[in-house]
Amino acid sequence: MIDRGRASKLSAWFAGGLAFGFWAVAPDHATRAVGDGLERALFGRAYAQEAEPEVSPTRVRDREREVYFPNSEDLAPDEMRVIACGTGMPTTRAKQAAACFLVELGNGDKFLFDIGSGSAERISSLQIPYNYLDKVFVGHLHTDHFGALHDLFIGGALMGRNVPLRVWGPSGAIPELGTAYALEGMMQMLTWDMAGRAGNVDFRGYRMDVTEFDFRGENQVIYDENGVVIRSFPAIHAIDGAVSFALEWNDLKFVFSSDTYPNKWFREYAQDADIAIHECFIAVPDLVNKMGFTPESALLVGTQVHTAPEAFGKVMSDIRPRMAVAYHFFKDFDTTPQVYDRIRKTYDGPLSLAEDYMVWNVTKDDIQVRMAAVEEATWAPPLAAPAEPPSLDDRTAFAEQVGIDIADIGFSDFTTAGYDDVDAVLRPIFQEASEALGREFPYPGDQ
Ligand SMILES: [Zn+2]
Ligand SMILES: [Zn+2]
Repeated sequence: MIDRGRASKLSAWFAGGLAFGFWAVAPDHATRAVGDGLERALFGRAYAQEAEPEVSPTRVRDREREVYFPNSEDLAPDEMRVIACGTGMPTTRAKQAAACFLVELGNGDKFLFDIGSGSAERISSLQIPYNYLDKVFVGHLHTDHFGALHDLFIGGALMGRNVPLRVWGPSGAIPELGTAYALEGMMQMLTWDMAGRAGNVDFRGYRMDVTEFDFRGENQVIYDENGVVIRSFPAIHAIDGAVSFALEWNDLKFVFSSDTYPNKWFREYAQDADIAIHECFIAVPDLVNKMGFTPESALLVGTQVHTAPEAFGKVMSDIRPRMAVAYHFFKDFDTTPQVYDRIRKTYDGPLSLAEDYMVWNVTKDDIQVRMAAVEEATWAPPLAAPAEPPSLDDRTAFAEQVGIDIADIGFSDFTTAGYDDVDAVLRPIFQEASEALGREFPYPGDQ
C-alpha cells in the first residue's frame, strides 16, 4: 500500500506546475500560489538528500508515485478519486476525447459524468470491471457529452457488464428534445447490432434503464442510494435542456458543470465544492488562429455560447472550491498559456487545467493531482459477476420487444447459399475445446 499522504502537497503542486506549464509562462503566479512552501517545493529533493539514503538496487522504493497506475492503489474508505476520461471539444482529436469524468468513491460506487465521443477508450484503459461502470449522468445531449454512450453500452456489455446500464439525463422544452427521446432513438439505431448479438452472447447487459428528470429542477435530488446524493440544477447552454450536477458523499462534494454559461444556479449550488469542474473554452484569439473562426464568430462562441477563461475564473472566485478544474479546451503547449493567464486575471485559487487521464485523489485533508499512466493495448477487465452462456431465448425476447418477426433475425436462403464449406477446418476447434474442457461442444453443422 502506498502512503500517498506524506508528500502529497509537494507533488500536487509539482503536478499542477508541470500540467499548467507556468514555469515557462508565468513564474510570478507560481510564487503567489505557493507562498512559503515555494522554497521547500523547489528544493525538496535537496532536503531529502540530507537524510540517510533509502535506495536499493533490487527493492521497490517506499516513496510516493508521481503518476497513477490504474488498478495499483486501493481507494481509502473516505476517499474520492476523479479521473478525466475526456476533456476536449466536439471537434474530435486523438489526443483528447470529449467530455467525460469518472468519480470513484471509497464505498465502492462509481459514476460517469458525461460520456463524450472517444471517451469509451479512455474508460477501458482504466481496467475497471464493467459491472461497476453502470451509472452515467448526461448533462446535455451534444455528442461531445454523450457520443460514446453507445460504445459503453455495447462494448461494456461485451467486456463483461451483465447488468443493465443506468442513464440519467435532462428533459427538454418538448419531449422530442429530452434524454428519453434521444436514447429511444439510440436503441432503435442499435436494432441491427443487438439483433445480431442476441443468442450469441450473454445478453443481460444489453439493457438500458433511462431516467429523464426535469431540467428546470433547482438542486433537485435525482439519485439517492448508498449514502450518495446527486442533484441537478439548470445550465445555460445552446437551448433549454442542459444541466449541471453535484454529487455529495461522506462530506465530500464533487460538482460538474457539463457545458454552461456562468449562471446563478452554479454560483449557488456549487458552493462548498471540494472539486468543481467547469467548462472553460479556448481563448478567443486561438479560436481564430487555430480553429479558423471568423473574429465575429469567435467572439460569440468563445464568450457568449461557452465560458471564456476570464469568466471561468470569475465563477471559481465566486464559489471558491478546494480545487477548480477547467476543461473543454484543446490543451496544447501554445494554447495553454492563453487559457491560464486569462483565468489568473480573475481567480487566484487552486487550479487544474484538465487533460485526459488527469487524476484527483480527494479527501478532507488533501487533494492530490497526478496524471495516470495507462496501457493502450488493454483487454476486458475481470468479471464482477459470473457470465452466462448465450441463449436463443434472448433472440426471441428481443424480437418481441422490438416488435419484429424472429424469422427475420438470422440469415436468409439467399445468404446461406453463399457459405463456403470450411467445416473440415473448423470442426477440430470444437474437438479441441471438448477435449481440453472435458465436456462435449457439438459442432453447429452436426446438430
Ligand atoms: Zn455542449
Ligand atoms: Zn461541450
